[in-house]
Order: sequence, then C-alpha cells, then structure tokens
Amino acid sequence: MHEFSLALEVINLAQYEAEKNKARTVSEITIEIGNISGVEPDAFESALGLLTEGSILEKASIKIVKTSCRGICIACETEFEMNQRMDTCPECGSFPSEISGGKEFRVVSLMIEE
Ligand SMILES: [Zn+2]
Repeated sequence: MHEFSLALEVINLAQYEAEKNKARTVSEITIEIGNISGVEPDAFESALGLLTEGSILEKASIKIVKTSCRGICIACETEFEMNQRMDTCPECGSFPSEISGGKEFRVVSLMIEE
C-alpha cells in the first residue's frame, strides 16, 4: 500500500505550498495519475480521504485525472492506448516504436484560499 505514503507526500506538499503563500485552506487539488505509474487511483483516493482529516486538505475537493500511456505502432503507425509496457498494436500485433505518457504521478494544480 504505497498509496498511503504517496498520499502523505501530497498532503505535505499542499501544506508547504499553503504555508508559503500564507493560505488558510486549500480549496481544490488536482492530481494526475498515469495508468502505468504503479499507483492505483482508487486506492490512492481512499488513502488520501482517510489522511486528509484534520490536515490542510480537509475541505479541499480532490480531483484525480487519469492519464494513459500511448504507443505508436512501428509497422502501421496506429496510435493506441497501452495498459502495460508489453502491449502490442491492436491492428497488426507489432510493438510500438514510440511510447508516451502514463507514468505521471504529480500534483498539477492547487487552489488556495488566503
Ligand atoms: Zn500496427
């Protein structure tokens, strides 16, 4: 359950940003989670839900944006969504030549109230 330690990191980050900006509360936080990042969005969300009680994020609305990994087929250039590293082209079964995205785990925005 490394989602718990990631949730703690996110809360610490939000706390740090809020203090830096002399904010009293965080109203909204958006976190991006890629489908091959190794983070389970549902587990992360429930971990965060449990840990935010009494924290700076207690009243924040939490938005989770799921991103997915995309590959471009080396043979037919079809662009397709990948759920794991070894996925092959749905059209012809070749491996992708280019792989992008899906590994993100980051806070993309934080809305604070002063
Ligand atoms: Zn192909």
